[in-house]
Amino acid sequence: MPTHYTLRMQFGPHQDADIITDQLLKLVEEARVDEIMFFFFAEEMNDGHGTLEDVRTWIENSRPYRKALAEAGITVSLNPWHSLLHADRGRRMKSQQKWQPMVDRNGKACTAVVCPLDQDWRAYYEEVLRLYSQEGFRVIWIDDDIRYHNHEPLEWGGCFCPLHVAEFNRRMGTNATREEITANCLAPGEPHPWRDAWLDMWEETHLAMISRWREIIESGGSRLGLMSSLPEAHAAEGRRWADWWKALAGERPPIHRPHFWGYSETVSRTLPNSIALLDQNRQIQPENVESGPEIECFPYGNWNKSFRQIGAQMALAQICGSTNLNISLYDFMGNWPDDEPERARFLSRWRGALDWLADQFPMTLKSVGIGIPWSPNMGRKIHVKDHDTGWKALQCPSRGWANWLGASRQAFSMRPSPSINALAGPVVWSFSQSKLHEWLSQGVLLDGEAAAILVKRGMGHLIGFETARMIDQTEVLYSMEQISDEHFGLRQGAQMSVNAKPYTAKLFQGRLLDGARLASDLRSPTQNIVGHGLVLYQNELGGRVATVPWCANAPVEMNIHRATQLQRVIGYLGNGVSHGNVEGSAWLVPQFLKDGERWRGVIWNAGADTVARFTVNLPTGWETISSAIHVKAEGERSSALVEGNQIVLVQPMHQWEFVVIY
Ligand SMILES: [Zn+2]
Repeated sequence: MPTHYTLRMQFGPHQDADIITDQLLKLVEEARVDEIMFFFFAEEMNDGHGTLEDVRTWIENSRPYRKALAEAGITVSLNPWHSLLHADRGRRMKSQQKWQPMVDRNGKACTAVVCPLDQDWRAYYEEVLRLYSQEGFRVIWIDDDIRYHNHEPLEWGGCFCPLHVAEFNRRMGTNATREEITANCLAPGEPHPWRDAWLDMWEETHLAMISRWREIIESGGSRLGLMSSLPEAHAAEGRRWADWWKALAGERPPIHRPHFWGYSETVSRTLPNSIALLDQNRQIQPENVESGPEIECFPYGNWNKSFRQIGAQMALAQICGSTNLNISLYDFMGNWPDDEPERARFLSRWRGALDWLADQFPMTLKSVGIGIPWSPNMGRKIHVKDHDTGWKALQCPSRGWANWLGASRQAFSMRPSPSINALAGPVVWSFSQSKLHEWLSQGVLLDGEAAAILVKRGMGHLIGFETARMIDQTEVLYSMEQISDEHFGLRQGAQMSVNAKPYTAKLFQGRLLDGARLASDLRSPTQNIVGHGLVLYQNELGGRVATVPWCANAPVEMNIHRATQLQRVIGYLGNGVSHGNVEGSAWLVPQFLKDGERWRGVIWNAGADTVARFTVNLPTGWETISSAIHVKAEGERSSALVEGNQIVLVQPMHQWEFVVIY
């Protein structure tokens, strides 16, 4: 199957439709585009909720170029930019729009963003969708403003308005205030039952609304598509994905646009996070999904993001399993594609490589690597700490280890592995005792916070600790970690800084059980040993456990000593099973994928230094590399030499380029 280019664009009703028609017909040919998805009422052209008359004006004015595209064989879709509305940004409801605004936990109300429980707004929006549904669009997208989080200027988001409080009380038979409800939902420790009840109410009201929208859209012959945001943010809304797919698509394959890459140019260290995000999305999607990750580059143009990086972004989407690419290269103001013809040339140049990648990486491939388990249920299960950080406290981090393992050149997967799993921080609350026992009978890598939670849950005896506490530098003046066991570092005596960094702001310390093996220690500025570092333990279940004292849900601080330490730890935990890794330069990031007997690998150069050769340590079960193809930033492909497990490049690999092996 080839890839599918969908360009996302907006032209306003003030623009000359003849000019836009000419511009678009030229663009779709030059850029080898399959589909155009038009925005209505987006960003700069949004002044709140458009009236039905405004909606008709947008529909009428865009009809000539939509018709011309369809006649030229180009598919046309629609992305109305407002349902609830993303953010106020000075916008207000119009005089006839007497709707309940969205309200945050503290009682602050929006001026334009609405509450989804307002029945008058719902009737209005159904009418808007009815108008859109008559226009022959392939897909009508719900933007990711259908969410509770991220509605500026609210704290975290909403909605905690009087309608929502009343609905909660009606369901529960209570008479609680907003303050009482949110205090219970965010109570420290074991989640209060009201948290689940509140999240269920949020879920059910959204699902009923979306099912209704699907009926309207499908009766006109279009399909409903959904954009989504970060999984941890949706988890803090209590989202249950299987129910969403059903509401959105019934029994048909759902249409999904996941977010996975920064909107502006990003740096080396963000690549593992993007890989992990796509992998998380693949897990919540059904097998037959139409998945078109957003290739978003807001606020657009080469000063914001380089073609080199956009090429990598599109390639990664294809490698991680995508049927479509939803590409945003054009601003919302309707400036002409001709203003910057390089964009069409860029898309055309990459098309061949992306068609090839789509073929090489079908949706059936699954990521292989160290397992990093997470759960879409984590927002319901997380234990809030004592301090009140608002609803954001329910946004459970889940990609910490992906960032550290990716930076240390280890392959990872966001699904559990049958041999090694890595757990960091409060995501541990999401898993049952029996699931944790199962993993602890294999190989487990723990960060400090995860270890402390396991001790609290009565599993200290399985990880080598009798007690647990978290320390900071005011309590114990640590500043360095020293390798004390040469098997778990580059050399004995090598040191790593643990001074004043987010990942070492709090360190885990505990009383070690007999048999626990110390592989590094914490030192003061004057070289006194003030605590334990890395601890290894073989437990009564036969499992091997490695615990680092620091926090993996913090920005990565990588160096040769940390990378080597983690590589050796993974070797120990695997106990003969390899998940695959790569050596040869900083910021080489490996990916391995498998489908039955078919293996695929990708080695990225996310770093700014060029790479001439590197070594691939294949995952267990993959015997030999038969071919290696270097994909360059211009979308060109050339063969690389394979010498055993060494890849030698004919031309050096620059940043954001990659080698595909099979
Ligand atoms: Zn509300």
